[in-house]
Amino acid sequence: MHQALDSNTGKPITVDGYRVAYGSLLNSANQPNVRPPAKCPVCGEELHIKGESGTSRITKIFSHNPVFGVEEYPCPIKEGGRAKYEVLTPTSYDPASAAALRASFFSHWQLHWHQFRDYIGYAKVEDFIELLNLADDRKIWGYHHLKEYEIPLVLLILKDFAPIKKKTTKNEYWRKHWVRFWFPSSVKNLDDYWNLQPSSRFVIKAYYTTSPSAKLPNPKHFLKFENIILNKSYLTSDSERKMDTVVEKMMTKAFPIEIAQAAAETTLES
Ligand SMILES: [Zn+2]
Repeated sequence: MHQALDSNTGKPITVDGYRVAYGSLLNSANQPNVRPPAKCPVCGEELHIKGESGTSRITKIFSHNPVFGVEEYPCPIKEGGRAKYEVLTPTSYDPASAAALRASFFSHWQLHWHQFRDYIGYAKVEDFIELLNLADDRKIWGYHHLKEYEIPLVLLILKDFAPIKKKTTKNEYWRKHWVRFWFPSSVKNLDDYWNLQPSSRFVIKAYYTTSPSAKLPNPKHFLKFENIILNKSYLTSDSERKMDTVVEKMMTKAFPIEIAQAAAETTLES
């Protein structure tokens, strides 16, 4: 990967940046430099710089250390498939509170849509609709500790987002890279996520240079990452944002009852 987590600063760092900040493998006396480890942003394992210790040419790539024997918990970033987060039906499922949260979500759906889009960079309404249907299927609304402002973030970890080309021009993109979201490494399912300290509730956003026509992002094309901090205030923000009529139309088609109800409430309020 082209970026690792600098364990000293907690920020992303490149191979060049790392060597400028902490020196090369050996110092001028040919002794190992004491450097803070570069870590994998997802599994937290220490990484090495490919080619740095060998006789071959040094690369600009951080790599996981080879593991001999069976790897019990392989790093999800090394795997091509989607992360297998367990999204089990919540154990203490309360239909009434789930329905209330869902109704509240749809009454603010435009705000959620804008936040969802901001997290990804650029998103298609088809993805938003697909994930809301998945939330219905898996009864995600019934998670005990789920706050309304956490829903877009939870939806993000359930899907990979392919690059989006502009329709009018040949090789221009609204969003050029594949995007995949991960929870921090200690999280294996949604319950783990809600058991984290509130300050640790972030997701890792990874960018991949994989071709737009591929089915999934390829771990070999991992480009860079950033930590996405949960935005808690977008539901109460005053800033007016313009809705795209195509988005409105498709949402109305997918969720006619919910959208009509939300529109009626807005009319009553104004
Ligand atoms: Zn890893």
